[in-house]
Amino acid sequence: MGEMRDTLVLNASFEPLSTVTLNRAVVLVLQDKAVVEQSHPALRVRAATVELPVPRVIRLCRYVRVPFRRRAPWSRRGVLVRDQHRCAYCGRRATTVDHVVPRSQGGADSWLNTVASCAMDNHRKADRTPEQAGMPLLRQPFEPTPANAMLLALGREDFEALPDWLAQPAA
Ligand SMILES: [Zn+2]
Repeated sequence: MGEMRDTLVLNASFEPLSTVTLNRAVVLVLQDKAVVEQSHPALRVRAATVELPVPRVIRLCRYVRVPFRRRAPWSRRGVLVRDQHRCAYCGRRATTVDHVVPRSQGGADSWLNTVASCAMDNHRKADRTPEQAGMPLLRQPFEPTPANAMLLALGREDFEALPDWLAQPAA
C-alpha cells in the first residue's frame, strides 16, 4: 500500500536516504533535483502539463549531506538546522535555542520543546512560556524525520547558493 505511494530517494551516490510521498517525488523530478531511477511499469502520474511514469525510486542529482537519518537525538545544533536558523518568534536569523516551556518550569531538552531563536528574543522571553511572554510561535516545533531532514538538506543548498547580501537577515 504505502509502497505504491511512497518513493524511495537515493542520494547522488546511490545510497538510500529516505522515502517521500509521490507528490514530493514528482516535484523533485520536475525541479530537476532528482532523476527517476525506477518507475512503476503501468502507472502514470499527471503533474501540471506533463505526464510521467509513477516513480518508485528517484536519485538526487546532487549529493546532499543529511544531518540526521534515523530518529535523531536532540541537540542544539539539530534544532538550528531543523528551523533553518530562523527565529521562531520573529523569523530573523537565529543563533540560540529557546526552551518553549523554560527549564525552570520543567521544560525538557526535546525536539518538541525547543525552537531556534534570535538572541534578542531569547533574552526578552526569558523564563516564561510564549503565552506568559505574549510571544506567539510562528511555527510549531516538530521531531525531524529522515524525509524532512533530507528535504531540509536540499533546501539549505539553495539557501546557501544565494548571494551573501541576499542571505543576510533584513535587520
Ligand atoms: Zn527573534
